[in-house]
Amino acid sequence: MTPLNVVKEKQAHIALEALRANRMAAYYVPTAAEVVPLVRSLLHEGDSIAVGGSVTLDETGVSELIRSSEYRFIDRYEAGISPEEAAQRMRQGLLADTFLTSANAITLNGELYNVDGRSNRVAAIAFGPKQVIVVAGINKLVPTLEDAITRVKTSAAPPNVERLHCQTGCAETGVCVGYKGGMTAGCRNEGRICCSYLVSAMQREKDRIKVILVGEPLGY
Ligand code: SF4
Repeated sequence: MTPLNVVKEKQAHIALEALRANRMAAYYVPTAAEVVPLVRSLLHEGDSIAVGGSVTLDETGVSELIRSSEYRFIDRYEAGISPEEAAQRMRQGLLADTFLTSANAITLNGELYNVDGRSNRVAAIAFGPKQVIVVAGINKLVPTLEDAITRVKTSAAPPNVERLHCQTGCAETGVCVGYKGGMTAGCRNEGRICCSYLVSAMQREKDRIKVILVGEPLGY
């Protein structure tokens, strides 16, 4: 293990303890290959499952797992469905048994930070699905919420805009046009992907949110 990896793993364990103190279940796995078996152990046969758009879920094989016949996947990505049907499935996802997503950032203080355009993802994290499973690479770990805000403006939103082909300020510049401003500073384009900002701190419902931190970089 490289010195950098040793440090990252130590920081991961600080975050795990802080997440648990905030009444979220928290797990650490060193590699992406260990994510699917852990997620499978947290699901029940027949569960209805919805997802927030996530490169991490694709990279870890979770997207493939939830399409198995064991589960009822509410698939808003199904080829050929209308935008209205996709939106309806997003609404159905708010009452799923399990919602799977990544996080834009996780702080060493045990907070999850998420920024959303359609806002179905932050809505589901906050309330609705019986459980929320968050899978995040070590690259999502930041010291504080201030760093989380910067991370989204510089490292998370711009590549997601490229991936989703959105017409936004950062699509032109490669960085949020509001990167010198506060949390909500940004472009005024209709395709903006930063519309709702959610900090998940201490939770009333213990272990409804489960965080799987992976010792490898994943997603943006
Ligand atoms: S507010 Fe606009 S420019 Fe800033 S990161 Fe979001 S989409 Fe990009």
